[in-house]
Amino acid sequence: MSTSVDELRRSLEGSVVLPVDPDYDTARRGFNALVDRRPALIARCLSPGDVAVAFDFARTHELQVAVRGGGHNPAGHCTVDDGLVIDLSLMRTVDVDCETRIARAAGGATWLDFDAATQAVGLVTPGGVVGSTGVAGLTLGGGIGHLTAQHGLTCDNLVGAELVTPDGAVVHASAAENAELLWALRGAGGNFGVATRLEFRLHPLERVVGGRLVFSGRGVREALRRFRDLAVRSPRDLSCQAGLGVDESLEPVLVVAPCYTGADGDPEELRELSSAPGLVEDGLRAHTFLDQQRVLDSPYGENRHYWKGHFVRELSDELLDELLQRIVALGRPPGGILIESLHGAPTDADAATGVVSFRKAAFNISAMATWQDATLDEKYIAWARETAAALEPWSLGGYVNYMQADEPIERVRAAFGTDAFDRLQALKLRYDPENVLRRNQNIPPP
Ligand SMILES: Cc1cc2nc3c(=O)[nH]c(=O)nc-3n(C[C@H](O)[C@H](O)[C@H](O)COP(=O)(O)OP(=O)(O)OC[C@H]3O[C@@H](n4cnc5c(N)ncnc54)[C@H](O)[C@@H]3O)c2cc1C
Repeated sequence: MSTSVDELRRSLEGSVVLPVDPDYDTARRGFNALVDRRPALIARCLSPGDVAVAFDFARTHELQVAVRGGGHNPAGHCTVDDGLVIDLSLMRTVDVDCETRIARAAGGATWLDFDAATQAVGLVTPGGVVGSTGVAGLTLGGGIGHLTAQHGLTCDNLVGAELVTPDGAVVHASAAENAELLWALRGAGGNFGVATRLEFRLHPLERVVGGRLVFSGRGVREALRRFRDLAVRSPRDLSCQAGLGVDESLEPVLVVAPCYTGADGDPEELRELSSAPGLVEDGLRAHTFLDQQRVLDSPYGENRHYWKGHFVRELSDELLDELLQRIVALGRPPGGILIESLHGAPTDADAATGVVSFRKAAFNISAMATWQDATLDEKYIAWARETAAALEPWSLGGYVNYMQADEPIERVRAAFGTDAFDRLQALKLRYDPENVLRRNQNIPPP
C-alpha cells in the first residue's frame, strides 16, 4: 500500500498520519480511553474534495471507514482497527453572517470554535455544554445543552448542510433542496455522508444567570424534587441540568447547572431552588454565555467511559428515590447520574421537521461511569448497565449521542420509531447503499 499512500498524500490538500508517525498516538485516540483502536491510516482532510479522495482510497483498498469530528462519541465510533479515519479536526472554521443570523461551521469545528465566533457578535445557537465536543457529531444526534429550553435542540437550529457521500458526490440539504435529507440530519447521525459544512440559525444573547448550585446529604432528596418541579413548570427562559454523585463521606451530592436568560436579575425560580435544604455551594452568578459554557467540563482522553440511560416521560418521586439508591449502590460510584431537562422549546417545536423522536420526554437520565483503572472495567460497566436497567419501567428510549457501541439495532430503531426508521433506510439506500458509513448508531440499508 506504500506507493498508493504516497499518491494519497499527493492528492490530499491535508495530510496522512500513519502508525510510524510521531503524532499517530494522539491522532488515533478519542475522548473515551476505553476504546483503544489502531487505524491503518488517518486522512486529515481540509476540503470536501479531500473527503472524496479519502472515500475513494478506502474503497480501492477495501478499508473500513470511521469519521472523526470532535472525537467525543462515547462509543468510540471515530476510530477503527486497520481501517481509514476521515479526520475533520483540521476543518474548524466558523463564519458568521450577522445580517441573516446564520453561522456556517466546518465539519470538524468544536463548540469552543463555534461559541467564540458567534459570541464575538453577541449571537448563539444552543450547543453542547463541553467546549471540546464536535459541532457536527452532537448536532446530527440531537443536541441538549444550556439553551435547550430557550431555543430547542441543536438540530432544531440546523438549517442546512453540505455533505460528501461515500461515492464522492457533494450533496446539499436545506428546506429548499433535499428536505428529506435535512429531516434525517436532524437526529439520525452520520449515516448518510460526511458533513463538511453545517449551517445554523442564530439568536441574540450575551449574558446569562448561571453557574452551579451544590446540595449535599439529607437535603438532596428535597433539592431533587425542587429541580424536577421547576422543570415541570416549563420556564422558557431557564434551561436546567443536574448531576448526582457522592461526597467524601459517601453521602449523595446534587449539582444543578441552571442557565437563565430572562430579564430578571434575581429570578424567582432560582431563589426557590437555592433555598432548598442542603445547599453547600452557591455558585449562581450573572456572567457571559462563554463563562456559562465553562461551568461543566471534562478532561479529554484520560478516562474510561461507559454511559447508558433513558429518556423518561416524568421524574416521579419513586424514580427519584430509585436514582438516590443507585448512586450509593457501590458505596463510591464511578462517575454519576446526569439528568437533563427537555422542557420548553423542544416540546413546542414542530416534530415533523426532524427525526428526533424524544420530544415527548421530560428528562434524559444517564448513568455515566467514568474511571481509569482497566481492572475495574467489568464492575463499573455493570454499575452503568444496572442503573440504566432500573430506569427501564419509565423508559421512552435511548439517546443516540450517548449510546455505546454495544447497543443492539432494536434500540437504535426504537430511538426513531418504526415509520421514521423506514424513511431513514430509504435515504440510506439512496446516499450510502453499501453502508460504508456503519461505524455509528447504524441505519443499515433495507
Ligand atoms: C464530554 C462530553 C460532553 C458531551 N456533551 C454533550 C452535550 O452537552 N449535549 C449533547 O447532546 N451531547 C453531548 N455529548 C455527546 C456528543 O454529542 C456525542 O458523543 C457526539 O457524537 C460527539 O460528536 P463528536 O464530533 O465530538 O464525536 P466523534 O466521535 O468525532 O464523532 C461521532 C460520530 O458522529 C459522526 N460525525 C462526526 N462528525 C461528523 C461529520 N462532520 N459528518 C458526518 N458525521 C460526523 C460520525 O458518525 C462519528 O462517528 C457529549 C459527549 C462528551 C464526551
